[in-house]
Formats: sequence, structure tokens, C-alpha cells
Amino acid sequence: MSKTHLAVGIAAALAVSPIRTAGGAFAAVIGGALGGVLCDVECKTPPDARDIFAGQMGAGCLTVALLCADAIMHAGLWMSIRSQNLYTLMLGALTVILLTSLGHLTAHRTFTHSLLYVGLLAFGLSRISPMLLVPALAGGVSHLALDTLNKKSVPWLYPIDRNGFCLKLCHADRTANAAFFWLGLGAGVALLAVKANAFI
Ligand SMILES: [Zn+2]
Repeated sequence: MSKTHLAVGIAAALAVSPIRTAGGAFAAVIGGALGGVLCDVECKTPPDARDIFAGQMGAGCLTVALLCADAIMHAGLWMSIRSQNLYTLMLGALTVILLTSLGHLTAHRTFTHSLLYVGLLAFGLSRISPMLLVPALAGGVSHLALDTLNKKSVPWLYPIDRNGFCLKLCHADRTANAAFFWLGLGAGVALLAVKANAFI
């Protein structure tokens, strides 16, 4: 479910991102959150669509709040966005908008649940700020890994392999979902506390 993808995406991004400033921590949280929830843009049927929309709104609000905090604190992320060339910024924004719009039109767990989509999404976000590249990749890969645990196939290598695979270990909305949410939240808070030592 989307809150689990949000929590695990952020934790994965915090785990693999080299964080030396508060701006780096903000970038990890934003990139992990967006990478974690934007794989599900193709889901259009309720009640899943409502849950996914709530997760995407959560990631969007988190992004706006942290960008505002970064700009006020001069922590580095907002500065890295402002230092990007205008055409590079437009390329990044257009890539993200086109990818998510195209992804919305595709069938469930096809293009948007592939390394190709995750890589292109991370590329688009990295054109907005290079600090978002690694976190977005981590968030996206964490989404594919979590979905692989349940009972519908994930086509990691789409379009080379359109069938993909799944491990059939759990349902998407039951005990394992709650367990991974709390695991992601706990790991995220612990990683943030440990890595914040580097810049506080
Ligand atoms: Zn998914």
C-alpha cells in the first residue's frame, strides 16, 4: 500500500545516499518518497486508486514542505535546483510529467514497474537536481522489490521480459504491509538520526 512504499522508499534512499548536509537529507527524503510512490501512477481502479492518490499527495506535500524548509535554511537542495540551467530544468520537469502521464495510460504492473521506468524517472528528477538521482533510484527499486513479494508479477526487465515474476510471499494489504510500513518508518528515523550526526 502507498504509505508502506512511502516509508520504505524514504528509508532505502536514506540508507544509500551519501548525506553530508541537511540539504542532502532533504534530497534523500524527497527522492525516496517520489521514487517510492510514482511507480503506481497506472493504478486507476478503486479502492487502490484512492490509497495511491493519498500516497502521492503525501509525497507531494512532503516535497513542498522540505523544499520550503531547505530554502529558508539555505541547506543546499534549493540552491542546487536554482543553479541548474533553465533548459536542463525544463528537460527534467518535462521528462517527469511525460513519464507519469504515459505511465497513467499503461496497464497495471507493466512499464511503470520496470527498471526502465525507474531509471528514466530518476534521470528526470536528476535534471531538476543531481542530488535526487540516487534517492529516486533507491525509492523506485524499493517499490519494485516490495511489489515482488506479493502475488502479482513485476516485469523488472520490461520490455525485454514482459512477464516478470513474483515471490507470492504475502498479500499487498495485510500483516506484511503493516510490518514493512513500521520497519520502513523505524529504519528511516534511525538512519536520519545517525546520518544527521555528520552535519549537526
Ligand atoms: Zn506497485
